[in-house]
Amino acid sequence: MMAGPKERQLSPEYSLRVLRDVPMSRHSSWHAGGPADMLFTPRDALDLAAFLRQLPPEVPLLWVGLGSNLLVRDGGFRGVVVLTHGALGAFHRLSLQRLYVEAGVPCARIARQCVKWGLGPAEFLAGIPGTLGGALAMNAGAWGGETWKHVLEVETLDRQGVRRTRPAGDFEVGYRHVQGPPGEWFLAARLEFERRPGTNAEAIRELLERRRETQPIGAWSCGSTFTNPPGDHAARLIDTAGLKGFRIGDASVSEKHANFIINHGTASATDIEALIRHVQATVEAVHHVALVPEVRIVGEAA
Ligand SMILES: Cc1cc2nc3c(=O)[nH]c(=O)nc-3n(C[C@H](O)[C@H](O)[C@H](O)COP(=O)(O)OP(=O)(O)OC[C@H]3O[C@@H](n4cnc5c(N)ncnc54)[C@H](O)[C@@H]3O)c2cc1C
Repeated sequence: MMAGPKERQLSPEYSLRVLRDVPMSRHSSWHAGGPADMLFTPRDALDLAAFLRQLPPEVPLLWVGLGSNLLVRDGGFRGVVVLTHGALGAFHRLSLQRLYVEAGVPCARIARQCVKWGLGPAEFLAGIPGTLGGALAMNAGAWGGETWKHVLEVETLDRQGVRRTRPAGDFEVGYRHVQGPPGEWFLAARLEFERRPGTNAEAIRELLERRRETQPIGAWSCGSTFTNPPGDHAARLIDTAGLKGFRIGDASVSEKHANFIINHGTASATDIEALIRHVQATVEAVHHVALVPEVRIVGEAA
């Protein structure tokens, strides 16, 4: 196959190392989505910085962790996906209560390690099936816990491969909302937890068990599809609009938790997005509330 114009602009080393036409269904917990033109897994932060320095500025860039909050449309992504999971995996203790964690580390691992070290409250991270990078981008949270409550500093990388350390105060943070300096992605964070010597793995098991009773854990989903509007719950609005079980193609609104959209096996990203739009339109018509997707939808339509 002849190299496309974007590929010709990569340096020879990186041109050999990027994967081409990679189905993003492999990198989304919805198991749906079209191909990324190129996908790059860095060896470490230095390698990633070098990759970005040689990447032409016009090539679109998408950082992906575990894809547990991501829908890439069926036409795919015309640019480079940088995969952090399995790449940026450094994780160590800086002091009694402080940790250094790179962006590709799964949140569940942080939760388990905190329990071992007698630190908390980090149990909420056990219920988030993503990476620290995704949790920083989303301010992921559960059971009253929130990622950014524990952030002292982050390390970021920009398009030119420039690495910066920024205090948490450089970011505007809210419910599932994080706004920082544009054009920078998360490489790592310094996190702080409290000393919780009594915390044990049983607490995590109980919380996960409680979650399994109310959420369709194990089914292909991206967790909560919409953010909760102020003072209400998206799940309640969707349920009372009569949408539980509503289906488009092989995607449906979960019967167990109405804010979850399930791919039963062969749903396309188009089906899932059509269902998202249908839910929004119906809830707007019935309740006069505009639901906002929590999941990130990117890429080209088929
Ligand atoms: C069953 C299930 C349960 C869930 N429960 C919860 C929950 O309780 N609470 C909650 O908050 N979320 C929950 N989620 C959603 C999801 O796990 C979180 O949003 C998680 O933080 C996403 O992390 P990720 O690594 O999968 O990110 P991805 O899905 O890979 O990416 C999400 C967004 O973050 C960006 N991003 C990823 N890495 C970086 C980086 N290093 N720098 C900058 N941007 C980056 C991506 O570009 C994208 O815009 C759930 C999902 C599932 C499937």
